[in-house]
Amino acid sequence: MIELHGALDRVVCLSCGERSARERLDERLREANPGWSARAEAVNPDGDAVLPDVAVEAFRVVDCERCGGVLKPDVVFFGENVPPARVRDCYALTEAAGALLVLGSSLTVVSGYRFVRHAARHGIPVAIVNRGETRGDPHALVVLDSPLGATLDALVDGLPA
Ligand SMILES: [Zn+2]
Repeated sequence: MIELHGALDRVVCLSCGERSARERLDERLREANPGWSARAEAVNPDGDAVLPDVAVEAFRVVDCERCGGVLKPDVVFFGENVPPARVRDCYALTEAAGALLVLGSSLTVVSGYRFVRHAARHGIPVAIVNRGETRGDPHALVVLDSPLGATLDALVDGLPA
């Protein structure tokens, strides 16, 4: 499995590229901020929490243990690009696959859609399960407009024991 857009269980240093476990960062943040606590004034739709200024100012951020650089979640943020080597690995996996199954994506963003186009160009059948139309529908052999959870449950129920 390739995590195309990264994963939140890791952090990466913006200076040296060192990756470390998010759990370790959590430990270090707790050590750097003993007794710190705050109550969110609001939680935005994107998950960002609004904290009182006094709480934010009292919070100590920790840096990369190796070089002192700034850390960020090891995910591809909006406006960033998926690392080229990871894209190449995904193309290779697509070419080696007997079929490409898209689950729960509108494929609006090119970063996933390109693999559907790539599979179709190579004669690899594409199946899509999604609620609503997707950008990949014209390239798919099978399109199932259906809620993902119920569809996957039905598929699992239909598997031989
Ligand atoms: Zn670093």
